[in-house]
Amino acid sequence: MTTIRLVQGDITRESVDAIVNAANSSLLGGGGVDGAIHRRGGPAILDECRKLRASHYGKGLAAGQAVATTAGNLDARWVIHTVGPVWSATEDRSELLASCYRESLRIAGELGARTVAFPAISTGVYRWPMDDGARIAVETVRDTPTAVEEVRFVLFDDRAYDEFARVLG
Ligand code: ADP
Repeated sequence: MTTIRLVQGDITRESVDAIVNAANSSLLGGGGVDGAIHRRGGPAILDECRKLRASHYGKGLAAGQAVATTAGNLDARWVIHTVGPVWSATEDRSELLASCYRESLRIAGELGARTVAFPAISTGVYRWPMDDGARIAVETVRDTPTAVEEVRFVLFDDRAYDEFARVLG
């Protein structure tokens, strides 16, 4: 059984085996949690992202996929970069958002990570409604068989924390 914990705060302050980044498909950094991870993690992360981009992801990493790099100066061994879908009112992209959590857990498991911190993927600049984003996050982690022992959702603000707490019950 995987333990799910909720924490309110800045994910770059967490001490875990792997920190998941809500990256964009370029893998070359962005705003929000992506910017915060690169700022605090230092240039080693971007360096590895650039190399991955050149060797494997010339067209960028597709939504729903994930890839790991060093965690640089963060208190973690790896950063797992996953690309959330942009919210759409006309197209159901839930499966892509679920895939972000599933693929990140799969990679974490392959790496041997026992503790993994996730932000609320797609709920910032990508505009996914927080209640639905929280539901997909919690349900997907609950339904995904994994050797990861603890999943920690690190929520930046009160509202995000409250939505996750409501879904977790
Ligand atoms: P996306 O493009 O996937 O929407 P964002 O980074 O814009 O990614 O936002 C994803 C979520 O991460 C939002 O709920 C945002 O409030 C939150 N967030 C932003 N900075 C941090 C941080 N330092 N730690 C944890 N969560 C953060």
